[in-house]
Amino acid sequence: MKNEDRYLKNIEKFICSREPESRSGILMKDSARRLGISRSEYLQIEKPYAFIYQRLPVEIGGEVLNISSGIVLHNRARGPFKGGIRIDPDVNIWETTELARLMTLKTSLADLELGGGKSGIKVDFHKLYEGLKDKLKVDFYPFMDRLKDHIMREFVDHFVERGLVRTYVPAPDMGSSGAEMMLFYNKTHDPAVVTAKPEGIEGWLPGRREATGFGTSYATLKYLEQVGKNPADVTVAVQGFGNVGSYAAHYLHREGCRVVAVTDFYGGVYNPEGIDIPGLMEYAAAHRTVKGFDDKHTIDNAGLFALEADVLIPAASGHVIDKGNVGALGVKLVLVEAANMPVSWEAMGMLQQRGVNLLPDNYVNAGGVIASDLEYKQGVGGVRFNRQQVFQRLETKFDTMWAEMNERREIAGSFSQAACDVAMERTYKAMRTRSLI
Ligand code: NAD
Repeated sequence: MKNEDRYLKNIEKFICSREPESRSGILMKDSARRLGISRSEYLQIEKPYAFIYQRLPVEIGGEVLNISSGIVLHNRARGPFKGGIRIDPDVNIWETTELARLMTLKTSLADLELGGGKSGIKVDFHKLYEGLKDKLKVDFYPFMDRLKDHIMREFVDHFVERGLVRTYVPAPDMGSSGAEMMLFYNKTHDPAVVTAKPEGIEGWLPGRREATGFGTSYATLKYLEQVGKNPADVTVAVQGFGNVGSYAAHYLHREGCRVVAVTDFYGGVYNPEGIDIPGLMEYAAAHRTVKGFDDKHTIDNAGLFALEADVLIPAASGHVIDKGNVGALGVKLVLVEAANMPVSWEAMGMLQQRGVNLLPDNYVNAGGVIASDLEYKQGVGGVRFNRQQVFQRLETKFDTMWAEMNERREIAGSFSQAACDVAMERTYKAMRTRSLI
C-alpha cells in the first residue's frame, strides 16, 4: 500500500467513517493533475488539518438536549481558518469537511489572506418544537430563537475555551446571522473574533450583510454582459430567500432583470411578469417567509427548477441538483451557484453537455468572505472602511476573479475547473513557501 493511501485510511479508520466522494475532492484532484501537483502533495491540500466534535448540552422545558456540533479546520496556509457556522438538521462531519475545503478554495480564488474552516451545528428546530410545544405553550419562532441562543452561548464558550479566537474566524451560514455572531463579541470583546457583526457593534462593516447577495448579482450581470444579454430581457428564478437569495434578487431586480419565481423552506411565489422584490423583502422581513405574499400565485421547488428561466440561482442548501433531477431543469442560460455545492459533479457535466453554463460557488458567493476580510482587517488593525469602499472592493475582486477564470477556462474545461485551478495553485504555492509540503 502506498504511504499516502495509508494516511488516508488512517483518518477514516480513526473516526470509523468513510468520506463520501466529494465534488470539491474531484475538482481538486483534477486541478492537481493539470497543475502537476503530486498525489502526496495534493492530499496535504485536500485533507483537513483538524476536526473538533463538541457536544452542546442545553436545557429547555426541564429537559437537557444534547446537540452535536463540529468544527473543521481545513487549511491556514494563507491566513487564519475562515468559514461560517451552519445550523441545520442535515449537518454531518463530512458535509462540514467539504464546506471547509470549499472555503479554502474560495478565499484563495479571491486572493484573500485567509484560509478555510467551517462549523456545523446539527439541530432540527421543527422536530424539537413538535415534541415540546404542548409543554412549553410558545409559538415556533420564539421557541427557535430562545433555543438557538442557548445553543450558541454553549458553542461560543467552547470556542473560546479551546483557544480558537483569531485562529479560526467564524461568520454566518445557513441558520445563523449577525445575532449569533454578536455572542462571540459579547464573550471576548474582541472585534476580530468574528465577522458579520450587527450594525453598531465595534468593528462592524457597512455592506457585509448585503455582500454575498450583491456579489451573486454582480457575477450574474458580468456573465450576461459577456454573452451579450440585456438584463431587461432576462428572467431569473431563485431558490432560498434568506440573506443571500433575498439580496441577490434585490440587486438583480434593481438592474432590470425580471425575477419570476422565489421559493423558501415554507413555500414560493411565482409571477411571469416579475415579482415585486422590494415588496417581497418587506413581507419576508416581517413574516420570516415568502409564503403568503401572494396566495394566488404559488410555486414549489420542483416547479421553480422546471421553469424555463434564463438564470437559475439556488441560494438555499447544498446538493439540491443531481443526476436524478438535472434532466427536469428548465434553466436556459446559466446556473449561478449562490449556495455552497448545490449541484453534484455528474449534474455539472450534464448541464455542460446541454449548453447551460455554471458559475461556481467559490466564485459566485465569495462576496461574503471578501467583505469579511475587510471586517477582519478592521478588527485587527483599527482601520475603518465605509460602504462605498466595501462595494468598490467587491467589484474589483469580482472583476479580477472573472478575468482569471476566463483566462484558464478553455484549458481547464469549465468555469468551475478554472476557478479551482487558480485557487489550488495559490494554496499550493503558499504551502511550498512555508515548507508545509
Ligand atoms: P439563510 O439561513 O439566511 O437562508 C436560507 C434560505 O433558504 C431561507 O430562505 C430558507 O427558508 C431557504 N431554504 C431552506 N431550505 C429550503 C428548501 N428545502 N427549499 C427552499 N428553500 C429553502 O442562509 P444564507 O446565509 O442565505 O445561505 C444560503 C446559502 O448560501 C447556503 O448554501 C450558504 O452556505 C451559502 N452562503 C452564504 C453566505 C453568507 O454570507 N450568508 C456566504 C457564502 C455562501
